[in-house]
Amino acid sequence: MFTIKQHLMAQSIEEGYETLVKNRNNVILGGTGFLKLGNKNINIGIDLSDLDLDYIREDENNIEIGPMTTFRSVETNKLLRENFDGIIAKSVEEIVGIQLRSVITAGATVASKYGFSDFITALLSLNTQVELYKGGIISLDEYLAEEKIPRDILVRIIIKKDGKRAAFKTMRNSKSDYAVLNCAVSDLDGEYRVAVGARPGRAVVKTISNEEVNNKIDEKIEAVVNEMKFGKNMRASGEYREMIAKVLIRRCLEELESK
Ligand SMILES: Cc1cc2nc3c(=O)[nH]c(=O)nc-3n(C[C@H](O)[C@H](O)[C@H](O)COP(=O)(O)OP(=O)(O)OC[C@H]3O[C@@H](n4cnc5c(N)ncnc54)[C@H](O)[C@@H]3O)c2cc1C
Repeated sequence: MFTIKQHLMAQSIEEGYETLVKNRNNVILGGTGFLKLGNKNINIGIDLSDLDLDYIREDENNIEIGPMTTFRSVETNKLLRENFDGIIAKSVEEIVGIQLRSVITAGATVASKYGFSDFITALLSLNTQVELYKGGIISLDEYLAEEKIPRDILVRIIIKKDGKRAAFKTMRNSKSDYAVLNCAVSDLDGEYRVAVGARPGRAVVKTISNEEVNNKIDEKIEAVVNEMKFGKNMRASGEYREMIAKVLIRRCLEELESK
């Protein structure tokens, strides 16, 4: 369990940011689900709960998710269930149980670039951007590609409402465990984005079009998987993950074809 010397209820994002960069032991608090698994000695815990950052909303072009939005809100939100065939909501509904999902937050998950994340994989298959307080708006692809986690505050997740169809699949050894592998595929007029996470490294995405592979599912799978690396950890070997990736991508593509 972590310890906190001082709790700051930030009154603005600027105050939160200024506090964050003053001391390397000052830490932004999300739902603290993950922080509780460690034993960090936090100097100032920066609480963003007063800043109205818990929202899921849409405008003409985008759906936006605030960083303090819990996974339970993501899972049950009508907008997220109705757009992109509901994959954003589906991606979180198997994470442990409702009690945990009612606490853990969207912003902490994306900001931390967790390799095992189901949520990130679903977002990556769509046209998603993240907004960092100092770093501005960048694509999620770009954010994940940068090895380091910036000393910044993630203030918004932005998903373009471009009419993509999508499918999400995950494979777990047991119900509440982390995924052995997860996969999300989106399709817009025969242009696919195939995202694979829990490899066990960070999710990666490959794009492919029907034209490139003559609309053949086997060729699509080979083209994507051959460009991805799979590794081992306590849950599975790299070879096993590669086989599972082929199965999950196929299931996603077949689901998209049947829609
Ligand atoms: C027991 C358990 C099981 C889990 N199983 C799964 C699973 O099967 N699949 C899955 O996908 N995920 C799983 N997770 C992870 C979960 O989905 C969240 O990703 C994780 O808990 C982080 O969210 P949090 O709100 O708890 O973050 P916190 O613990 O509050 O914070 C985590 C990190 O994010 C930083 N942070 C918080 N908010 C921001 C922000 N706005 N900007 C920048 N940095 C920020 C914090 O400083 C900290 O470093 C599990 C978590 C737990 C505790």
